[in-house]
Amino acid sequence: MADDKDIFYDADADLSVLEGKTVAILGYGSQGHAHALNLKESGVDVVVGLRPDSSSRADAEAQGLEVLDIADAASKGDVVMVLLPDERQAELWREEIADGIADGDLLMFAHGFSINFGQIDPPAGVDVGMVAPKGPGHLVRRQFEEGRGVPCLMAIHQDSTGTAREKVLAYASGIGGGRAGVIETTFKDEAETDLFGEQAVLCGGATELVQAGFETLVEAGYDPRLAYFECLHELKLIVDLMYEQGIQGMRDSISNTAEYGDMTRGPKVITEETRVAMRKILADIQSGEFAKEWIAENEAGQENFQRMRDEAASKQVEQVGGELRSMMPWIQNKD
Ligand code: NAD
Ligand code: MG
Repeated sequence: MADDKDIFYDADADLSVLEGKTVAILGYGSQGHAHALNLKESGVDVVVGLRPDSSSRADAEAQGLEVLDIADAASKGDVVMVLLPDERQAELWREEIADGIADGDLLMFAHGFSINFGQIDPPAGVDVGMVAPKGPGHLVRRQFEEGRGVPCLMAIHQDSTGTAREKVLAYASGIGGGRAGVIETTFKDEAETDLFGEQAVLCGGATELVQAGFETLVEAGYDPRLAYFECLHELKLIVDLMYEQGIQGMRDSISNTAEYGDMTRGPKVITEETRVAMRKILADIQSGEFAKEWIAENEAGQENFQRMRDEAASKQVEQVGGELRSMMPWIQNKD
């Protein structure tokens, strides 16, 4: 692969570099099941590493995969992909994974968190790489089965053997990423932009926007069902249009009235103050402040996290939404 390129496709990848090697997939959740099954169907030798009591064991075995304990899989793998929850990775690395990683092995991640924020510091003789699909695991699996792929980011943190890049690219191709495009980046840029996106826009920004819009209408005395349809249900239709055609393409599909309201009122909701808040969120990610807070939350047993989960689940928008969605059963489990 040429060094000046930073986007790669299947034609740039050579899956034969994984021949004779065992790829251990640690975890069988959203990403784990998709990577394991896609790689197996790409002809790669895969073992899955799980806790002895994991409820996913039966699933993985039923899909024809060999399942071992995490430590045994880490030790058997020449390539070891860590698809465990980010907040558990450092502890599992120390207790179960590190001993099985020999010099010359390739240790992989699907997110830069543990490496970029210093939670895991692999020995110098180990190659360290990343393949981060830009989509949830069920899509990584479904698109692969349909002959398509989810675009991926790849990165190399350590290349002690001189073969890390070709192996990481082969892995990305094996899960289907090379059909859509694999962009090379760094652990730092992936980790920081991924956290920013989910906090400011995709998850934090979007859920708070929906919540605020819903509550504004309900407080003003409107039917909560109308508020739900306007502020949550229809968001998907608009986002689908942006996904397919960009912001202007979406605006072509809405009425002139909606487009005028969009361009004149949007900036009154997302103001300079919002942008200042976004810059602060980014700064806290870059400085490691957010990572420190999240690690401390986990060390304290996730008390605040669970409380916020419970509070969010009891909100009116969830109750109204639950009732309305039960009348539209086709909406659920579409994937
Ligand atoms: P997940 O929560 O869906 O699955 C985690 C797996 O780890 C499960 O098999 C679970 O049984 C196992 N597990 C959980 N706790 C454990 C413990 N204490 N000990 C041992 N095993 C345990 O996680 P995921 O969403 O697939 O995320 C895995 C990695 O992929 C993370 O680094 C994440 O950032 C990254 N990633 C996720 C997505 C996504 O859309 N979900 C997208 C890109 C990257
Ligand atoms: Mg090993």
